[in-house]
Amino acid sequence: MMEYSPVIGLEIHAQLLTRSKLFCACATTGDDAPNSRTCPECLGHPGALPVLNAEAVRMAIRAGTALGCTLHPDSRFARKHYFYPDLPKGYQITQYDRPIGTGGALRFRMPDGNIAHAAIQRIHLEEDAGKLIHTETDARADDNRCGTPLLEIVTYPVFISPEAAVAFLQELRRMLMYIGICDGSMEHASLRCDANVSLRDTANAPGQRTEIKNLNSFRHIEHALHWEIDRQRTVLASGGTVEAVTLLWDENANAGSIMRGKESAADYHYVDDLDLPELVITTEEIESVVATLPELPLARAERLVQEHGLSHYDADVLTADRMMVDFFEELLRCLPADRRAALTKSAVHWINGELLAAMKNQACGTIPVDAARLAHLLERIDDGSISHSAAKLVFENMCGSSQDADALIAELGLLQVSDETTLRALAEDILEAHPAEVHAFQNGKQGLLGFFIQRMMEQSQGKADPRRSSAILRDLLAGAGDQEMKEATARRSEQEGSERSARAGEGDSP
Ligand code: ZN
Ligand code: MN
Repeated sequence: MMEYSPVIGLEIHAQLLTRSKLFCACATTGDDAPNSRTCPECLGHPGALPVLNAEAVRMAIRAGTALGCTLHPDSRFARKHYFYPDLPKGYQITQYDRPIGTGGALRFRMPDGNIAHAAIQRIHLEEDAGKLIHTETDARADDNRCGTPLLEIVTYPVFISPEAAVAFLQELRRMLMYIGICDGSMEHASLRCDANVSLRDTANAPGQRTEIKNLNSFRHIEHALHWEIDRQRTVLASGGTVEAVTLLWDENANAGSIMRGKESAADYHYVDDLDLPELVITTEEIESVVATLPELPLARAERLVQEHGLSHYDADVLTADRMMVDFFEELLRCLPADRRAALTKSAVHWINGELLAAMKNQACGTIPVDAARLAHLLERIDDGSISHSAAKLVFENMCGSSQDADALIAELGLLQVSDETTLRALAEDILEAHPAEVHAFQNGKQGLLGFFIQRMMEQSQGKADPRRSSAILRDLLAGAGDQEMKEATARRSEQEGSERSARAGEGDSP
């Protein structure tokens, strides 16, 4: 049987974060009452003229630069004609034979961890259509979305598996959000994807392409692509031919359905839109946009791995959100230079753990604590002033207040007890109260050390320094045993003690 390998290309529509529409002053968000954000231009009334939104052009330049496209100084708008109730103009203003950008590539991490480059064919600006609201008895048009600016990004057919296509799309989404031109919400359709699929035979002859429309989650894309690859394989295996069709994906049925024969360019009857002049962009405009472009997320993740020894996983989680990774780097800067390397892991865990959880709980879009105070808290854990669990309590109180770590530690009475005399007295009490366990320990049940440490924590309301407590307990428990071992334990705990003091810069041990 002939072997076929899939070839996948993507067309992505990203809704641009401008306040007004692409060719009129109507708002892109806000009043959601149907047809409340419309005007003669976006409704296509005769005589209304489009005026291009300069901010949308700047956003396209940002994306084009980030993707390494060649940006053309003189692109043009065209009318793409089709008839549908959500398109009051009867045509969509888009770019056809002269798009704003061509070429370029996006680097992304393949599912196997390797970096790949996906070649970009073109990017262009266009307006969105409206929506149809289906009720039980009829369908109504809501034209609020008509004229909303979209950037269409078209890749070459370069993906060899659904997983590779999804990995690319995740990177593209993160990048578009990073450069601040799209909110990346697939759920709310501000990022939409069409995929075309064909099968190549062993002689490398390309097969007929089909297109799957409007995929709105990574999972759906993966399922739909697998389904369509299987469908084409089955058609070819039974001696049939794959037709050029457009498919719709039904996630609930886990199946696609053929919507219509695939349109060709001729079906759309493209003509230049003479209501709009050439879209001229100057070198100065491009340069001013380039100057404000941030470091891109994948490059940033790689730098974090290089500079701070983060795992790829941690670096990816952090860079998923630019605000979080900015905060992470600020947190590192707030740590004392000589402890920065040692506390990096702790910083990552606090951000990806406690901080993310707190933000999720409070459903807040901003970071509820400043980097300097969190840095101080990490130092207090590191120097043994407070336990990790006490630090969580301090952190909770720190969020949304302006109090610093030391004030909260004092106020909440969480200062860790690491004083030798106090801990030793406490340990002696505990051993005295549990003679049976002491006896068992000395007869080889070493696992009971955890039991004694647990009692120490309980007695001290969690404030006993666990490392010091453990050393002292070991020391006391060895008391009845070998004298040499006792001395060795004492020496070890003394050494640990002086290391700790030197690290904390206190030097208070005799
Ligand atoms: Zn309008
Ligand atoms: Mn389009």
